[in-house]
Amino acid sequence: MTSIEFAFEVHGLNHIKNQLLNILKELKSETLKDNIEYATLLNYQSGEILGRRLAGKYGEIKVQEHFDLMEKDKQYVHIHTHPDSSSFSPPDIKHLLDYHQLKNVIVIGKNGDLHLMGKIGVTNFHDSSRMAALFKKQLIEEIENKELDQIIQKINPWLHKFWTMNSSSFNLKYSTLRGVI
Ligand SMILES: [Zn+2]
Repeated sequence: MTSIEFAFEVHGLNHIKNQLLNILKELKSETLKDNIEYATLLNYQSGEILGRRLAGKYGEIKVQEHFDLMEKDKQYVHIHTHPDSSSFSPPDIKHLLDYHQLKNVIVIGKNGDLHLMGKIGVTNFHDSSRMAALFKKQLIEEIENKELDQIIQKINPWLHKFWTMNSSSFNLKYSTLRGVI
């Protein structure tokens, strides 16, 4: 079993691994071309793509159109790219907490880093604000007493550290695989 297969297994995604791998490779190659974010929504059970592929900017994408397509009693996986190859931003995880139908959020970096977040229990949309506040509090603690260049170097690895340490307190599970796609 490869590290990707293992991560897909951990996140309950192996039944749609071929669809996921194809989409991840495709989205990554689009982001490599023009350095903006792309997003795709999948049905969790069938791996079928819903709606159109959305395009954003560098570091920003509006994905409400995807969430408006989700039916109440179905489960979905949302995938988007990060041109800077960073881990999840707070809004990425807010989506997961806000929508009960969303089972996983996956981010693929331009450098091939793969970040996965999935639910390990019932999540609570009220936790969105707790997550955002905790993120801000720990980020401030992290950057206090540091020079600006240190801060800039620090933020990207820190995103990974933040999600590793805190996902389980929101009933979420997080995995990152370096340069695998
Ligand atoms: Zn994002």
